[in-house]
Amino acid sequence: MRVGIPTEIKDNEQRVSLQPDGAAELVHHGHEVLVQRGAGTGSRFADEEYEAAGARVVDDVFDADLVVKVKEPVPEEYHRFRPGQQLFTYLHAAADRSLTDFLLERRIDSIAYETVQTADGRLPLLTPMSEVAGRMAVQAAAHHLESPAGGAGVLLGGVPGTPAAKVTIIGGGVSGTEAAKIAVGMRAIVRVFDTNPSRLAYLSDVFDGRLDLVQPNRARLAAYVADSDVLIGAVLVPGTRAPKLVSRQMIASMRPGSVAVDIAIDQGGCFETSRATTHSEPTYVEEGVVHYCVANIPGAVARTSTLALTSATLPYLVTVADHGVRGAAAASPVLARGLTSLDGVLTSEPVAAAHDLPW
Ligand code: NAD
Repeated sequence: MRVGIPTEIKDNEQRVSLQPDGAAELVHHGHEVLVQRGAGTGSRFADEEYEAAGARVVDDVFDADLVVKVKEPVPEEYHRFRPGQQLFTYLHAAADRSLTDFLLERRIDSIAYETVQTADGRLPLLTPMSEVAGRMAVQAAAHHLESPAGGAGVLLGGVPGTPAAKVTIIGGGVSGTEAAKIAVGMRAIVRVFDTNPSRLAYLSDVFDGRLDLVQPNRARLAAYVADSDVLIGAVLVPGTRAPKLVSRQMIASMRPGSVAVDIAIDQGGCFETSRATTHSEPTYVEEGVVHYCVANIPGAVARTSTLALTSATLPYLVTVADHGVRGAAAASPVLARGLTSLDGVLTSEPVAAAHDLPW
């Protein structure tokens, strides 16, 4: 199989979908690896390292059988795919109708990283990026709370004799847990909401009483949001659009200059006031609250993110390259759960439901 590794062109996206040692692994499996010239530069991998691993460095990789990306194709890339091509990448198609139409019209066979799922419900290809995004969310919030950045001028942990900032995290899964670790480490007062009682029990054990853990209902959420310096949205209902849990009114009840970070923006966001932003212009102010809604947060720490992502994807990528998208889904139930489109037909019920399409 010819495997193509393009340069990512989404705003400030510096990650690459394969490391040189991953190229060597694919070559070892008998595949031809085409890497777009400079694709690894943003993650500090030189073209020569890919060549030394047995890949071919070329200017156009879109004639490959299988295109492996980090982010979903953006409209400027749609025309570069040929009908019937195979695609392995993050897609988040439930939140993007034009992308879904592209997959169907071009008859792209696709598996989405974020919905590849093990039998026990884990999302092994979403996890590493959620870990990065959760940690980064608190770094971003701490920065945007500063006065020159437009925030309320609050130091997250305070100093002795001053109150620490209050951080409310909605969703105590992978990203929410990592956000909590960093916020606790910076000495903020941290509260986590999660609908899953066993998740709350787990967090209670792991954090040894340093988190205020809350079973959500609307009134409780409204009260906590109003009393937060930082609000972090980290919910996920796999494959579907994020539920809008925080209303405009709740956001307006926060103190001016507070910061709202919606990590779940890649699934449409969980605050009513959220709209996707980029690393070039990461924030906007709505109802007096600084919103940070970057859809590819890990792209800002490209080297770390590429190392984490590609280490997780490689074993699955080898299976996809060995069998093709259709064959890999037949061979592996874990990959089958990530199957999004096949020969012009949607194979993901949540994506179909989000767009009111048959599947
Ligand atoms: P996860 O499945 O590990 O955790 C989600 C948690 O939300 C679960 O514990 C679940 O019980 C909880 N939850 C679901 N509905 C809830 C509700 N109504 N109220 C409270 N809690 C609720 O998911 P994750 O890996 O942490 O990912 C979270 C989101 O972050 C996803 O949308 C993911 O795509 C996104 N993400 C974004 C970026 C980015 O750059 N913006 C990067 C990585 C991940």
